[in-house]
Amino acid sequence: MTIVFYGPVISPTNDYDEYTVDPRCLLVVSDEGTIEWLDRDVQDSMVQQRLFEGGLSTDGIEIITLKNGEFLIPGFIDTHIHACQVPNMGIGGDKELLSWLRDYTFPLETQFGSPGFAERIYPDVVRRIIESGTTTACYYGSLHSDATKTLATIINNKGQRAFVGKCNMDHKSDGDSEYHEKSAQDSIDDTKALFKHIHHLRKSADGTPFVYPILTPRFALSCTEHLLELLKRFVEENDNPSRPLAIQTHISENMEEVEETLQIFKDCSSYAAVYQKYGLLRRGTILGHGVYLTDDEMTLIAKQGAGVAHCPTSNFYLSSGMAQVGKLLDHDVKVGLGTDVSGGYSLSMLTTIRNASNVSKMLFVNAQAAERRGEQRFHAGKRANRKLTVANLLHLATLGGAKVCNLEKQIGSLDEGKAFDALLVSVRDETGNPAVWGYNPHRDSHNANTLPDKKTLRIWLERFLFCGDDRNIRKVFVQGRLIGGKEA
Ligand SMILES: [Zn+2]
Repeated sequence: MTIVFYGPVISPTNDYDEYTVDPRCLLVVSDEGTIEWLDRDVQDSMVQQRLFEGGLSTDGIEIITLKNGEFLIPGFIDTHIHACQVPNMGIGGDKELLSWLRDYTFPLETQFGSPGFAERIYPDVVRRIIESGTTTACYYGSLHSDATKTLATIINNKGQRAFVGKCNMDHKSDGDSEYHEKSAQDSIDDTKALFKHIHHLRKSADGTPFVYPILTPRFALSCTEHLLELLKRFVEENDNPSRPLAIQTHISENMEEVEETLQIFKDCSSYAAVYQKYGLLRRGTILGHGVYLTDDEMTLIAKQGAGVAHCPTSNFYLSSGMAQVGKLLDHDVKVGLGTDVSGGYSLSMLTTIRNASNVSKMLFVNAQAAERRGEQRFHAGKRANRKLTVANLLHLATLGGAKVCNLEKQIGSLDEGKAFDALLVSVRDETGNPAVWGYNPHRDSHNANTLPDKKTLRIWLERFLFCGDDRNIRKVFVQGRLIGGKEA
């Protein structure tokens, strides 16, 4: 059934510094779940007329008129999350990356090898991520193929859009840990089995998948050179000219990790060069973190067409450092945001947005101080060390993520021809979130029937990004299908 929304629509644009705010938008979603057309400014009294002109009669369509205090935005795109680590959220923040993996993460991930564990854990994991407003997620599973197949099936049944991969890790990156694959060949065979499983899952009407397989070498330290060689061959054999093979891994998250990587891969001039050597740095590659990337590495990553998942919550929680989003953008690297649960303690992209803002402000303060000391200067026209604006943050969490996933033609903004992957957000007091000073029909009854203007909507968006939570996310749509939210 065709669904028509009438009310405020907020969306990023291809201009990183702008977003559109349309208080009286008429947005038509086709049976297939794509945005058939939208008219950005329609008077209340002209809605029926406009629908008629658009070839729609009121029979057989559902019209949803947004209430005062409600608006639509594109769904969030989480470009880096470990589904198998969700039960560990909010613990282990006293550690840093390598000891955190050993003491908290590997013991939990090991349990996904036990029969029934994935079936018990993953439904709850995926449900919570959808309720947080994430319509597309790039998931890391554990190293287990069967558990990760279960994850992919659950995501597919719940209707979320996703990339799902099992970790490739045949190297004892920690002497005590038994959490690694038996051999490089096992790693490849299990990966093939997972890819095959995912290729058979449900597709949209035009044959586009909802769940994509993604090759997931955990990080350079977790892979032997033999495995990296086999992964290189796997990429060559499975590449598709119309859609590059998706790959995800970690890079330059933590200083100790960078040092160890350069120690082991002595013939490589940098961390990025390791992935380049093994054919893993390419269009379709999503690099988590990138805190300590050098200028040369950023140039290489941009040249190869790979993207970076900025994971500020995790980078604060594990004391990893602060990634330089502005500098990455100055190098033309694609950037999206990632929660990186459970290095990050929150499933919500809203928390990630807030921490991305905080990182940019800390870099700004540090740069100002350095300038005062005469050590460096801001460069006009550059993004490095600038504070992220609301437009920047909205872009990173939606369209920026879509670009990192090479899905920007399909999702990331509310535009004609794109899939309707969207959130119906409410800042009405009745949502029960005391932190959001939005709309209360009793208090604000003098303007109960007036639709908010652009300025009010901009304020509401900012308050939602900084004070909102799942209570404000009333409906979550993927490809036009209602899959979650408080009113689902
Ligand atoms: Zn991660």
